[in-house]
Amino acid sequence: MVIEAKAGHYHQQQQPIKRVNTCAYCKGHTHLINPDNYPNDAYATEAEPGKWMCGNCIDTMEENIVLRNSNPTSERYCQVLAKRQRNWTKR
Ligand SMILES: [Zn+2]
Repeated sequence: MVIEAKAGHYHQQQQPIKRVNTCAYCKGHTHLINPDNYPNDAYATEAEPGKWMCGNCIDTMEENIVLRNSNPTSERYCQVLAKRQRNWTKR
């Protein structure tokens, strides 16, 4: 009975909102996942058990895959490259 109560409590804590988690993949800073502040955190995901990946890191990872695997003349490749170049000139 005690175990059942505990399981029920645990289940209640598993809300779809992931704002209690920090991103395990952001480098150099702590990113608290919060879709209210960062719209792309809406698709943050638990990439490994106990390790959450924020929307920014998912975007970056996806862009890296595009740059590595896409045809350099494809539209998607050009979009990602243009975005990267905008970020570079900002620094
Ligand atoms: Zn991140």
